[in-house]
Amino acid sequence: MVITMDDSATKKEIMRVTELIKKMGGDVHNLPKGSTGTMEVTGDHAGLDREQIAKMPGVKNIDNVKKPYKLGSREMKARNTVVKVGKVAIGGKKLTIIAGSCAVETVEGTNEGGRLLKMLGADLVRGGAFKPRTSPYSFQGLGKRGLEILADARELIGIPVVSEAVDTESFDLVEEYVDLIQIGARNMQNYSLLKRAGRAKKPILLKRGISATINEFLLAAEYIMSGGNYNVILCERGIRTFNDYTRFTLDISSIPELKQQSHLPVLVDPSHASGRRDMIIPLSKAAIAAGADGIMVEVHPFPDKALSDGYQSITFEHFAQLMKELSTIAKAVGRSI
Ligand code: PEP
Ligand code: MN
Repeated sequence: MVITMDDSATKKEIMRVTELIKKMGGDVHNLPKGSTGTMEVTGDHAGLDREQIAKMPGVKNIDNVKKPYKLGSREMKARNTVVKVGKVAIGGKKLTIIAGSCAVETVEGTNEGGRLLKMLGADLVRGGAFKPRTSPYSFQGLGKRGLEILADARELIGIPVVSEAVDTESFDLVEEYVDLIQIGARNMQNYSLLKRAGRAKKPILLKRGISATINEFLLAAEYIMSGGNYNVILCERGIRTFNDYTRFTLDISSIPELKQQSHLPVLVDPSHASGRRDMIIPLSKAAIAAGADGIMVEVHPFPDKALSDGYQSITFEHFAQLMKELSTIAKAVGRSI
């Protein structure tokens, strides 16, 4: 339920309506600027007396949001949300490029790589410190040391950094060190982690689960938003299908669908979607042409020596070529890079 207050409504009137709803058993979220209403009521609606709320001084209108996801829905906020990560605006006219190795490996690699990527046009540097690996015997990441290396690189290079929080235990640490916190595909439905992300003071990059529907994806985002963190960026990273020539299948049609259903920014990860470095350029171009707000791509100086996901990582030369080809597509769809 969305409540719109009169433009002339006082803070006191808004507070009185909030208190009444809470007394009736509802949860109240004050909506950000540009939303269709003033506040969104979630929680148990059984005890809500709509007529009594409508009679309160200052209340202009009460509406229902038909979608199961409320705060993230386009219905509730028509205008695109732009999420700020440091000085980088994600979801605006300018595309966002996130690049870096799958995992943080060395100080030199992170600093040199980060510098080069920034020079070539990357807006953020990525690197996993805690790695969610399919096999328990695979490299699990450098942990806290990886976060320190990443944060040092940020200071040195002057570029925001993103890394994944894999569980609630390590969330505080990741939040302390990085500018953007990633929640990975395997954790898209880890509800305690999503709730923790809802209390975070930093923006969240939420990746789509490998078998998640769009509804489930947007409801996962809703967990974060309903906790009070409206700075959520969606990332399509491929889903599991029967095809056997790529690691996953990049669901290009999810981009226009997410854009239609939600006001949140949408990024695409062609690296995990395909698992093939030869497909990074064509898939990135397709993603931008379909309306994505940017891409996240794995880059490594020596892909064949990478400690994780080397087969899908591209070199710096390859990244430079990607940027060049993306700028043509960006221009064609009225975006810049
Ligand atoms: C990653 O970005 O390194 C990662 C593990 O991605 P995903 O969660 O999409 O598999
Ligand atoms: Mn990876």
